[in-house]
Amino acid sequence: GTNNLQGYAPICLGLEDFYTRRLYLRIQDCFGRPIASAPDAWFNVVERYSNDNNKTLKRTSKLSRCLNLGSYNYLGFAAADEYCTPRAIESLKKYSPSTCSSRVDGGTTVLHNELEKCVADFVGKPAAIVLGMGYVTNSAILPVLVGKGGLIISDSLNHNSIVNGARGSGATIRVFQHNTPSHLEEVLREQIADGQPRTHRPWKKIIVIVEGIYSMEGELCKLPEIIAICKKYKVYTYLDEAHSIGAVGKTGRGVCELLGVDTADVDIMMGTFTKSFGSCGGYIAGSKELIQYLKYTCPAHLYATSISPPAAEQIISAIRVILGEDGSNRGAQKLARIRENSNFFRSELQKMGFEVLGDNDSPVMPVMLYNPAKIPAFSRECLKQNVAVVTVAFPATPLLLARARICISASHTKKDLMKALEVISQVGDLVGIKYFPAEPKKQ
Ligand code: PMP
Repeated sequence: GTNNLQGYAPICLGLEDFYTRRLYLRIQDCFGRPIASAPDAWFNVVERYSNDNNKTLKRTSKLSRCLNLGSYNYLGFAAADEYCTPRAIESLKKYSPSTCSSRVDGGTTVLHNELEKCVADFVGKPAAIVLGMGYVTNSAILPVLVGKGGLIISDSLNHNSIVNGARGSGATIRVFQHNTPSHLEEVLREQIADGQPRTHRPWKKIIVIVEGIYSMEGELCKLPEIIAICKKYKVYTYLDEAHSIGAVGKTGRGVCELLGVDTADVDIMMGTFTKSFGSCGGYIAGSKELIQYLKYTCPAHLYATSISPPAAEQIISAIRVILGEDGSNRGAQKLARIRENSNFFRSELQKMGFEVLGDNDSPVMPVMLYNPAKIPAFSRECLKQNVAVVTVAFPATPLLLARARICISASHTKKDLMKALEVISQVGDLVGIKYFPAEPKKQ
């Protein structure tokens, strides 16, 4: 599974030598040819990202621009922005690129406090804590929230950072079938009887973990049903909104807003700034007591350098644009645009006969390839025509469920999308991945 923007993803095989019983790794292209510089083939070099409508530059014998359908730049903020960029540059001059200190040792600037307040207000919680990396937010916070004697009930397709945090916590882990509330209830019922109070249960604490939009499936969480079950069994909920915060909901406030869930019903709200906000870092938002506790106990807060000031300023400014506090209606336009673009692209792909996973309004669009051997050909042929797509396969997906994962951005124009559809359609025919006839053939 790789962000295979350049289209040269090799196929990686773990083979066992029959005679020596030694395991070795063989990396080959889709024609079975070994790739000499194999390890580096996974790390594609993108020459640079440019400002104009989510284009990126590929590096071949000569530089050429290509349409980026791979990165999570949902609202188009990962580019020079008329409001965010001058502010990020000012903060760079004022604070430098790094605080070179942890939050407790001089790494808390005015910006850091402002960012946490701004994020808490935006997501609708009393307080928030910000860490320098989204991945670490899950993997370092979960072990602080729950430990031995606790129980984590996790969606089977939760992100690796959640899996890592859950394993590191020492809590018992149970997995429920992806986005299936009835199975979550079954798992819970095995552990506790209906309505048993929190103090009379075999577990010190129970946390149910879900994602707002699943990053490999493009699917919205069945949050209202899941919340109802969590309330019934009096267990905590942890919601990772990496792909939904900023990207969905009338004012960009994520799946709670989109699905009509009261944020008071979600105990722990997590998200990252690397998608809709065009920056980096992650947050946890919750009650004042919870955040205070995390600030004094989470090692990644106490011992890691605080988020870079220009990155913090980028997030604050992007939220101001989304809320219209920059004095323009660009934020509202971006939100309308990503919704329109996503729904248009998904329905056009389906009309062409592609199998596309996920729900309406979701900017994440997995196009099923199934056979992992089709991956390199699909992305390489798209790239030849200057359309960069990301393909994902095992271990990020089950072995025979390889897919191209298209991410739509508010900064894609209609013309961009039309070109992408044309290229993807041609490549789909070439590689043989159209599974449904668009219309019944007339005789
Ligand atoms: N949670 C989810 C659901 C993700 O998809 C990702 C990464 N794409 C992360 C957490 C980690 O976030 P980051 O890339 O910002 O470190």
